[in-house]
Amino acid sequence: MGNAGEPWDDGYDVVVAGSGAGAMAGALAAASGGLRTAVLEKTRVLGGTSAYSGSAIWLPGTRVQERAGIGDSAESARAYLRALIGDGTAAHREAFLETAPELVDFLERDPAIEFEFQPFPDYFDAPGRMDMGRSFVPLPLPAERLGDLAGLVRPPVDRDRAGRGHSASRPLVQGRALIGRLLLAITATGNGDVRTGTALTDLVVEDGEVTGVIAATADGPRRLRARRGVLLAAGGFESSAALRGEHGVPGAAAWTMAPDGANTGDAITAAVAAGASTGLLDQAWFCPGVRTPDGLPAFTLGLRGGLIVDGSGRRFANESLPYDQMGRRLAAAEGPFYLIFDARSKGLPAISVPPVALDEQVASGTWVEAGSLAALAARTGLPADALTATVERFNGFAAKGADEDFHRGEDPYDLFFTGGKPALVPVDEPPYHAAEIVLSDLGTKGGLRTDPDGRVLDGAGRPIPGLYAAGNTSASFTGPVYPGPGIPIGSAMAFAYRAVQSMRE
Ligand code: FAD
Repeated sequence: MGNAGEPWDDGYDVVVAGSGAGAMAGALAAASGGLRTAVLEKTRVLGGTSAYSGSAIWLPGTRVQERAGIGDSAESARAYLRALIGDGTAAHREAFLETAPELVDFLERDPAIEFEFQPFPDYFDAPGRMDMGRSFVPLPLPAERLGDLAGLVRPPVDRDRAGRGHSASRPLVQGRALIGRLLLAITATGNGDVRTGTALTDLVVEDGEVTGVIAATADGPRRLRARRGVLLAAGGFESSAALRGEHGVPGAAAWTMAPDGANTGDAITAAVAAGASTGLLDQAWFCPGVRTPDGLPAFTLGLRGGLIVDGSGRRFANESLPYDQMGRRLAAAEGPFYLIFDARSKGLPAISVPPVALDEQVASGTWVEAGSLAALAARTGLPADALTATVERFNGFAAKGADEDFHRGEDPYDLFFTGGKPALVPVDEPPYHAAEIVLSDLGTKGGLRTDPDGRVLDGAGRPIPGLYAAGNTSASFTGPVYPGPGIPIGSAMAFAYRAVQSMRE
């Protein structure tokens, strides 16, 4: 812990660690309310995984859903969350529901921020579900509006992994638009100091209260005073192999979709050293990933053909399940896993981030191509008899239009990405392909225990004065459930916003 009583290098009202959606929404709430606010970002660009994301935002019952006329309400969202999560985190649920409309009003009052509804079904068949979903996205942001600030926003996954910046000719979309818009809004307040290349390493605690942080910079450590509070919104620990191993998070640091090396649990570690308690540490927002030529995963969703087998050559799940549920099936099964597809379907999922191309995957040897299932089995090491029997059985289901084993196609979500075609498409036109699937994630979701105002709790359940957390730095109120598209970002923003309201009281 940082030594108390030493001189400060700089003073702020609010110090925010991290620059994902929660961090930036919290920073905007603070800075627009007249509080001098620092945003500390460890890497050289802002946005973390939030910038990579599709930026679907699950904040129910707001003016955005009202504009879209979809009939969403806090009541139906309450019924839905309650059915999935129970009442163990009811106080957080109620705080989330109460804050959603207020937060969206606040954000859209800013000229830099505008949202629109985007259909994307909720993930579970439960009371209160909206078949076309209730999440929304930011409007694309022309790069000219950001000017020089554009270079501060983390580029899309493929360009970022290749060390390239934003395309000069295209607007920033999805997560980049969200971070860019929040950055514009923070900058316009005149109260925000956005410091990249600045990593929180420690908290300063004086008389039991968190009064500031120690941050590592290129010029050495800096002590930064936070008169009202410190908001920790610096992601989870998905990129730390050691912490994943310690807490038993399935998957691997090398297979997370988070930006390389960004989220290593620094803020959680610093808060634990200051007496914070933690929860849900073995949990993540899981997803299947296809391996790409550089060895990294591409987040996939919305299969339009093919089937997935485990190491025994058998199916083990409805392949069209929402990605977190499919990830949990992968965690429970024995790999290696392969998506098996043929010439008819081309096997490509509706969405893959970064985009994948069949020709490139085959040319690089990442995906295997063969003229028969037996040859495909020989090249992947899968048992040929089992693989052939699995595909024949699946083709029988496709002919009947009924998946008797895993019920693929029975839930409206299964058909959302198929473009009006059936969920079950026979796999019988050579060449056949096998694409290795790994258990990936969009970030861990366990971390610091907080109260419904984002205040970090100690081991006795008491708030630690001056310390707040949101996003994947905190233990999610959703537990091991991923209710619908946009919950990670929606809840990160809501609890960051509440944390700042609490600091202002
Ligand atoms: P991040 O957004 O990762 O931000 C954490 C930041 O903190 C990083 O920039 C990191 O560098 C920084 N940091 C780490 N340590 C320190 C330190 N010591 N000091 C200072 N800074 C530090 N979720 C949705 O809700 N909707 C979607 O549509 C959606 N789509 C997705 C699509 C993809 C392809 C991916 C990969 C994820 C998607 N997700 C989506 C998941 C979601 O993006 C993340 O779970 C969420 O954004 C995490 O937010 P966060 O603020 O906790 O972390």
